[in-house]
Parts: sequence; structure tokens; C-alpha cells
Amino acid sequence: MSTTTAAQPARREIAWPSILYMAALHVGALLAFLPAYFSWSGVLLCVLLHWLTGGIGICLTYHRLLTHRSFTVRPRWLEYPMTAIGAMASEGGAIGWVADHRRHHAYSDDDLDTHSPLRGFMWAHMGWFMVCDAGSRHDEAYYKRWAPDLYRDPIHRWLDRYFILFPLLSFAAVYAAGAYYGLGMSWLIWAGFVRTIFVLHTTWLVNSASHIWGYRTHATRDQSTNLWWVAALTYGEGWHNNHHAFQTSARHGLDWWEVDPTYMAIKLMSFLGLAGDVKLAKVLKGPNGSLIEPGPRTIIPPTDTPHDPKTKMQESSV
Ligand SMILES: [Zn+2]
Ligand SMILES: [Zn+2]
Repeated sequence: MSTTTAAQPARREIAWPSILYMAALHVGALLAFLPAYFSWSGVLLCVLLHWLTGGIGICLTYHRLLTHRSFTVRPRWLEYPMTAIGAMASEGGAIGWVADHRRHHAYSDDDLDTHSPLRGFMWAHMGWFMVCDAGSRHDEAYYKRWAPDLYRDPIHRWLDRYFILFPLLSFAAVYAAGAYYGLGMSWLIWAGFVRTIFVLHTTWLVNSASHIWGYRTHATRDQSTNLWWVAALTYGEGWHNNHHAFQTSARHGLDWWEVDPTYMAIKLMSFLGLAGDVKLAKVLKGPNGSLIEPGPRTIIPPTDTPHDPKTKMQESSV
């Protein structure tokens, strides 16, 4: 991977609320090292809620449903409670998350990428949301540019604005439930803080590690990679080179060994009648065994201002 330092944007802001919130979560998770707070029920709940808030909330809902619209849910309103589950992961409101991620796809591994690995592993992993570029501030113009479809929806606007209620409610709920069995602090620390830290770092690994290490099946214009251990930690999101090549595909694991639990969950939802219009990559095996795409590809999900070289030129001058 190149370690060239890309040009730094002129204006940046330190996001103190995010930094302090993340620091508090990390301190809370460190309490798990105290044996007094350990319980197997807390660990089990941690794993279960990691799957629910990370696997279903972030990977399936925030990413494949809301960002790329790779399938639809039935009934349509199911999208709202699923978005609330995603908010429990403490990764911000869905509109901001979607906007940041669509911008990542538009400028992958470029100066204007939301979390370009060209600025170093730690920037791609977690530095990007601590020091905001002027061009990625979560304001109305940013939302309207990158996520106009969600911004038009008043319920999504409400969920985005008050997203912090959902992780806090999840912490209160696990504490209250645990307290019933005399395990309030144990469940809060393991199913609340440890679970959240685990979801955050595994999500961030997709942005950092899956643009640095691993193999590349498709010659995308970025450095995205397929990385098995990130895929294992993120319910299939680590098949990231496949995803950059076929961004609207609901299935990211394209070869037989590329296990994709998020796609399995979408298939299950489809079987139960809860999902439809599932988009899949049309890929064929090439003569050398690599996967090739036979038709034109859809690059960017619905926005009012689709990415093109002209808009990139304009933003470059920010
Ligand atoms: Zn990427
Ligand atoms: Zn994506």
C-alpha cells in the first residue's frame, strides 16, 4: 500500500463531542478487565447484540439497504425500526452515515475520500470522524447532496437528529434487565460498552484494513481488498473489493469461500416476505478464473447530484 500523504484539506474541525463520547465508551469497555464484572450471560448478550446492532443494524440496514438500496423491505415502514437498531451501534444517525459512505464510494482512496487510507491507517480507521474536513460537515447542504432520498423523509430526519437516544436506551435496557438478576453492571459493561466498541472497531476495519491488506479480484480504481478476517468480523462486509466493483449488489461474497452472513440474512428476510427487489452482481468466470462483469455497472446509489468528473473538479477547490 502506498503511504504517500495526500494533500490536506484547508479547513478542519476537531469533533470534540464525538471524541469525548468515544473515549467514554472505551473507558467503560476497559472495566471488562475487572473480574468482578464478568458474567457468561453478559458475554452471550454481547455477542447477540453485536450481531443485532452491527450485523443487522449497520451492515444490513445502514449499508446495504439505506446506502446502496440493494434490496427493499416489506412493509416499507420496517425500514424505520431497523434504522433505530442501527443507531444503537453509536455510529451516528443514518443520514450522516449514508452520506459519508456514498462520498467514500465517489472518491475512494482519493483526496476527497471520507476516510482515505492514503492518509494513514489510523486516519482511515478512526481519525476521520475526529477531525472533520470542511467538506464533510454534517449540515443540510451535505445531506442534500449525498443523501437527498433519506433527507426528504421526515421520519429519517428525526431518527438521524436524535440518534443518540437509541444507544443510550440500549445501555439503560441492558442495565435494567441485568439488574433484575443482580448483574446490572456486568451486562452494561459487556452487552453495552464492550459490544459497542467491538462493533465500532470491526466496522472501521472495513474502511482501514479492507483498503490495505487482502486480495483484489476486481481491478477497481481504488485499493479496496477482500479480507477474510474482516469479513468474518463484519458479517461479510470484508469482501470489500467485490463490493466496490458491484456496489449495489446485495451479495458481497461472490466466490464459494466468501461467506456472507449479511446476504444470508437478506435471503432469509426475502424468504419470509420481508425483503424484495434483491439486486445481485451479474458476474462470470473469466478464462484465468477471475470474476468479470458482463454488463455496465451502476456506480453510485440514488442521489440528486450523481458523481461525475465535473462535480469532482468543483469540490476539489473547497
Ligand atoms: Zn471502501
Ligand atoms: Zn458501500
